[in-house]
Amino acid sequence: MNYKEALNHTIFKTISKSAAELNLDSYVIGGFVRDYLLKRGDAKDIDVVAIGSGIALAKQVAKNLPNKPKVQVFKTYGTAMLKLNDIEVEFVGARKESYNENSRNPVVENGTLQDDQNRRDFSINALALDLSEANFGDLLDPFNGVQDLEYKIIRTPLDPDITYSDDPLRMMRAIRFATQLGFTIEKESLDAITRNNERIKIITNERIVVELNKILESKTPSIGFLLLEETGLLKYILPELTALKGIDEVEGQKHKDNFYHTLEVVDNIAKHTNDVWLRWAALLHDIGKAPTKRFSKKVGWTFHAHEFEGSKMVYHLFKRLKMPLNEKMKFVQKLVFMSSRPIVLAQDIVTDSAVRRLVFDAGDYVEDLMTLCEADITTKNPKKFNKYHNNFKIVREKIVEVEEKDSVRNFQPPVSGEEIMETFNIKPSREIGLIKEAIKEAILEGDIPNEHEAAFNLMLEKGKALGLKISD
Ligand code: ATP
Repeated sequence: MNYKEALNHTIFKTISKSAAELNLDSYVIGGFVRDYLLKRGDAKDIDVVAIGSGIALAKQVAKNLPNKPKVQVFKTYGTAMLKLNDIEVEFVGARKESYNENSRNPVVENGTLQDDQNRRDFSINALALDLSEANFGDLLDPFNGVQDLEYKIIRTPLDPDITYSDDPLRMMRAIRFATQLGFTIEKESLDAITRNNERIKIITNERIVVELNKILESKTPSIGFLLLEETGLLKYILPELTALKGIDEVEGQKHKDNFYHTLEVVDNIAKHTNDVWLRWAALLHDIGKAPTKRFSKKVGWTFHAHEFEGSKMVYHLFKRLKMPLNEKMKFVQKLVFMSSRPIVLAQDIVTDSAVRRLVFDAGDYVEDLMTLCEADITTKNPKKFNKYHNNFKIVREKIVEVEEKDSVRNFQPPVSGEEIMETFNIKPSREIGLIKEAIKEAILEGDIPNEHEAAFNLMLEKGKALGLKISD
């Protein structure tokens, strides 16, 4: 087969010409070819393999391009990269790889195209298009990758046990591609992942998180998490999630399986946001339920303060996985911590003051919190489903209303501590805190508007009750 039309971009002609000048063969390989055949839109990354020096080819290409782009050379890896507007082209010499037990970094020697295709992770990632002038666009597909694309199958070129054991990151990549593309991992491969799951321990957390994020960013993230669970990988990566699995029954009382519930919530939220951190919040919103689960005869199953416990666990989980411990982590923590708040609202009549308190506590995260809570409605009872959603609609409307009226989102006390001190001629003291708290409470309850005059009058009243005298 020939796919000349995949190589319309002028860069390919330049590579072809440059390779001919150096008297070597070159191929575009991997993700670019796969995504072209899948019609996944224009690829931004192009991987080129040279039968010879990839660095030399990159330099020759740069010389032949009108704007003479800078070539970035990565000597340790024997690769070179150049940028053309928003496209990155990576050059590498064809390699043969051999692995040892304790590292995913192989011993590398020069090889043929076939050697290089053998070292690729999946048949669909080993597809190559010839860039030579004579055979421009010819497809080289030694492992029937095109057929696997058609049948939507993830398969390793060589023995899957060796492929996964050599580089266990490939297990994550298999599951990530299955999730992103909606493909099936071939049975032998899936069994090999299960057999080799413990090998994931040699992979750095940073690499694992890259794949987890890609799974979470997919249209249906549950596909990936179910596969991670099924293959036994999840317990090494996110034991907090596997701990949610299972349904306990005591005296005829059951609780729901919080693992499958969580995955439903993640799929739901994926329909409403592309923000990966909000998706993380959905994934972790119930992790506090495993350590807080209790049974009592009186009330049945409880998960007392699981939101608080969960938000503490978020920190440890992020730290362990070397994820950022910055405002993104705090965002996830806060959402987990507040994840039950709107649900309580949705079960009841929605009062202004409850909404005001919600906005006050959630601040700028209030809309994201609502999105999380809407996704959290997984009841199969249509009556309840509609009731909760309708109530959430009312909550959302009230959030706008309350915010217009009282702007409590980033609450600034309408009467400052200084003003209280001046009015009563007092030094910093407990009374100031009491008065400020009373004003805040009155605003949140809706007893007074969030305005200076009303707050000032309340201050005078409270001051008097505390035995303070107005200064002259
Ligand atoms: P995406 O851009 O969606 O991550 P990709 O396939 O382009 O997909 P890259 O990580 O850029 O992913 O890898 C480029 C190519 O390099 C792959 O298509 C594959 O052929 C090869 N490759 C990448 N990682 C591995 C690996 N761990 N083992 C074997 N081959 C790999």
